[in-house]
Amino acid sequence: MKALVFNGPEDIRYESFNDPTIRNARNLIIKVQRCSICGSDLHMYHGGRIGPLDYSQPMERFCTGHETIGEVMEVGSGVHRHKIGDRILLAPGAACGTCRRCLSGQMNLCEGYRHGPGHGAPYGISPMLNGGHAEYIEVVNADLSATAIPDGISDEQAILLTDALATGYHGVKMSNVGPGDTVAVIGQGPVGRMAAEAAVAVGASTVFAIDPQESRRNQALTFGAIPMHPDEAESTILEVTKGLGVDSVIEAVGAGPTLMQAVTLARHGGRLSILGVLQNDTSMPLHVAQMKNLIVHMGIAGVVDTWQELIPLIQNNRIKGEGTFTHSFDLADGAEAFRMFNNREDGVVKVVMTP
Ligand SMILES: [Zn+2]
Ligand SMILES: [Zn+2]
Repeated sequence: MKALVFNGPEDIRYESFNDPTIRNARNLIIKVQRCSICGSDLHMYHGGRIGPLDYSQPMERFCTGHETIGEVMEVGSGVHRHKIGDRILLAPGAACGTCRRCLSGQMNLCEGYRHGPGHGAPYGISPMLNGGHAEYIEVVNADLSATAIPDGISDEQAILLTDALATGYHGVKMSNVGPGDTVAVIGQGPVGRMAAEAAVAVGASTVFAIDPQESRRNQALTFGAIPMHPDEAESTILEVTKGLGVDSVIEAVGAGPTLMQAVTLARHGGRLSILGVLQNDTSMPLHVAQMKNLIVHMGIAGVVDTWQELIPLIQNNRIKGEGTFTHSFDLADGAEAFRMFNNREDGVVKVVMTP
């Protein structure tokens, strides 16, 4: 098959790769119909880090991509919820389904990575598990980590459910956004934008959508949030909140200056959720966070757990995700898609690719 293959930083090529096979009875194979590039994929592209993975070091080649939807082509004998011909959307990673964390419903914290490749690993960020920027992908433990694309969900919305919307919504839940709350979302890339839209959907009274890029922050107007440039955020938000700060801050960048701003914007006793994938050079003013009694949460979303709440919200038009996908490419042009997404050319927010 053909796929986008990581050969090193800034060296992602559309080239031949081994066809996936079913390695376990609980797995299946889909023909990929649409896929997208996540902001976190750019850390690979830059030779940066995702958790313990350091892309500046030599690494065996692998298919990229953890935002994928497609049609089921082949199922293992142990798969019960999916059949050939179904259209499904995938979680961004695999889970074993049997460890203590999986059994408690925290499949994003699966401990199965101890048992070798294909268990408890994200798709498409390392040779551990090939990703879905490809014509075909093997879906691990598919009953647990994939769901049918129901009526009333577009292909673009289905892709958002694989990561960006689920992660943004995770930030909303982890910072405990409730009716009437004031919220600041720092960063209006796909995840931040989805967080802002979800915060409005769950009843926040005022949601500030902060981004230096005008086209990104102005999208907030389409779902009822308030666009704001980072340079004016502190003075304006403190004025609007009578010097107190907001109830919840969702940080969707993962850099030192935005972490600093997040702590500044939160009220005393407020909540902060850090969604941005942190790099080596990030620090935050813990002494200020402590004096404010901030409740801080950071981590990777349990994507599967969000679907039963998000799918009805989309089906009933409470969350739309409109305007998030700004560019489309053939998968064969995926290297160019990575390049222009990385350079933020032409007002790009998110790309969709079709094999
Ligand atoms: Zn992602
Ligand atoms: Zn597990």
